[in-house]
Amino acid sequence: MAAWPRPIVTDSGGFQAYSIIREGRQHGRIGNHEIAWRAEDSDRTFRLTPEKSVQLQLRYGADIVICLDQCTHPDDPEEVQEQSVRRTVAWAARGKKEFERIVGGGRRGGERPQLFAVIQGGVSRELRRRCAEELLTIGFDGFGYGGWPVDSEGKLLQEMFAYTRELVPAEFPLHALGVGHPANIVEGVRLGYDLFDSSMPSRDARHGRLYAWRQPPTPPSLSIAGADLVYVYVFDAKHAKASDPIMPGCDCYTCASYSLGYLHLLAARKDSLYMRLSTIHNLRFMVTLMQHIRDSDHDGG
Ligand SMILES: [Zn+2]
Repeated sequence: MAAWPRPIVTDSGGFQAYSIIREGRQHGRIGNHEIAWRAEDSDRTFRLTPEKSVQLQLRYGADIVICLDQCTHPDDPEEVQEQSVRRTVAWAARGKKEFERIVGGGRRGGERPQLFAVIQGGVSRELRRRCAEELLTIGFDGFGYGGWPVDSEGKLLQEMFAYTRELVPAEFPLHALGVGHPANIVEGVRLGYDLFDSSMPSRDARHGRLYAWRQPPTPPSLSIAGADLVYVYVFDAKHAKASDPIMPGCDCYTCASYSLGYLHLLAARKDSLYMRLSTIHNLRFMVTLMQHIRDSDHDGG
């Protein structure tokens, strides 16, 4: 547990296990009953079942719990996608049973955490439809778009995202799992998605890629595209003497207190303070991005 007073969304652990196993069969396997994998530096085998995933997430104090699913890559063959849909639906049913056993099925709305199921099916419309229909029949509070979300060039799989939104009635929230690039988030909102999660902003920060606007967007005439975003590469030698903050006008602690030149120095010296300061800025950038999106919605944009 953490002393975080705001809502918490957890993940099932399925994507993380998939990422480890995808590197090589010796790392583990995905079966009908469970996912089993070995940690890199130990002989211990970890086992994750749909039931255990729900138990752990509830123990972390999650407000939105995500059912265990079998993640796939859009390039995986049809039979892998089909198996993923079959297991994802079966595991969602088991997850819901466990969720109701612990939380109680009777309570509604804000009184209890929410349970989301993940729609798999790769880039097959037929499989996405089948998965969505079967999950809707079982019944969940919301849904997620499952599977690798972007193509080899980092572009959102727009057509499949749009189709999956069509499959889920508008009253259910839809989570774009693993979508984090600012331009993809803007596109996701346009396609009707409500929730996003990604390690990209904090990872980019640690690796020296900082976010800034070319021109700060001014609602209500908001239309954000990738072109409106510029990356500030902190390791670039040209920033060594920069006396401006990362993004002039940014209201984050880092920009209010430190120049880009100083951050360049910290980064070059591998000072751990750099990690914190850069993460504060990129996360603040994401928060203001979402604020701009909400403001533009309020103005009917
Ligand atoms: Zn800032």
